[in-house]
Amino acid sequence: MLNSTVISPKEARDLLKSTKNDEISWLKCFADGLRQEQVGNIVTYVINRNINFTNICEQHCSFCAFRRDAHQEGAFWLNLEDILAKCVLAVEKKATEICMQGGLNPEAKINGSSLQYYRQLVKGIKDNFPQLHLHAFSPQEVEFIARQDGLTYGDVILALKDVGVGSMPGTAAEILDDTVRKIICPEKLNTDTWLEIVSTAHALGMPTTSTMLCGHIETPEQQILHLSKLRSVQEIALEKNYPAKITEFILLPFVGEQAPKPLRNRVGRDQPDLQSSLKLTAVARLFLGDIIPNHQPSWVKLGLDGALQALQWGCNDLGGTLMEEHITTMAGAKGGTCLEENTIQKAIASLNRPSCQRNTLYQKC
Ligand code: SF4
Repeated sequence: MLNSTVISPKEARDLLKSTKNDEISWLKCFADGLRQEQVGNIVTYVINRNINFTNICEQHCSFCAFRRDAHQEGAFWLNLEDILAKCVLAVEKKATEICMQGGLNPEAKINGSSLQYYRQLVKGIKDNFPQLHLHAFSPQEVEFIARQDGLTYGDVILALKDVGVGSMPGTAAEILDDTVRKIICPEKLNTDTWLEIVSTAHALGMPTTSTMLCGHIETPEQQILHLSKLRSVQEIALEKNYPAKITEFILLPFVGEQAPKPLRNRVGRDQPDLQSSLKLTAVARLFLGDIIPNHQPSWVKLGLDGALQALQWGCNDLGGTLMEEHITTMAGAKGGTCLEENTIQKAIASLNRPSCQRNTLYQKC
């Protein structure tokens, strides 16, 4: 096993729990130094556009302010024409990537097949904009398509890859501990299924990202367990020499302002706790940085100022321009829904660090 993480799970947990100023300062300094050693000083970003094609969803995650039932006020389901119009605007802004995810809509089928619907969506975009990289459909969406059509996860991934999906967002991970999942997302795929789908994607040559939804009901122990699971799936990809692996880790702090009341009340906070997010950012660098070198904060959730702080606690990437964002903004996030490229460049320059546009797979543009 590859096992060169610079801290043990126990040390990671102790650091997350620490309230001592000297230990927290050491953590920040060590994570920042390790980031410099592992990936250098350049802060990367991608010009991309988010497209959420529907918010109609069969599930009811307790943190989700985005989902609607089909006939509920605020429900939307974009047709291909609407989606292509958004792609035109993305290309005008020099986007290299479309990030596309949506709710799990059982009506989204062609000839009774969910996979045919998703393939047509991808084909419609790729036929018109072959230059755009499609970063699309989470492990939960793959599980949904497979379940609807009675297919294996590998069948679905290969069929999506075949029409032009270039990589898979590692969302729907939330916290990879089923005791937490049973409370915050009881209908979602479980931990083992998430890991199986991500590993299958790697084996089939589909790169993925990885995420963690933090700052709700999970404990520091569960946060470390989550990082350990991400580490193990990446170790499998490396040890088995799979053609693809995890490209980045993104920390997604919970935004509760407009989230369904039971979870919002249980957490007792509307916006993320920045200090806890920064500590976890640093611990993630120490725990994963040797095998997942790219770490990204969420400017939508933390705001640009918070994201700039995270770049000093172990992160090396500022994510995308997005151009639109619904999922977190509907939950009450204050970070905004769009960043212009020059805003990103100026923000990075304010840290006296060079910036560089990358593509989805972390190649220089
Ligand atoms: S988080 Fe995703 S799967 Fe869960 S309810 Fe919201 S849209 Fe549906």
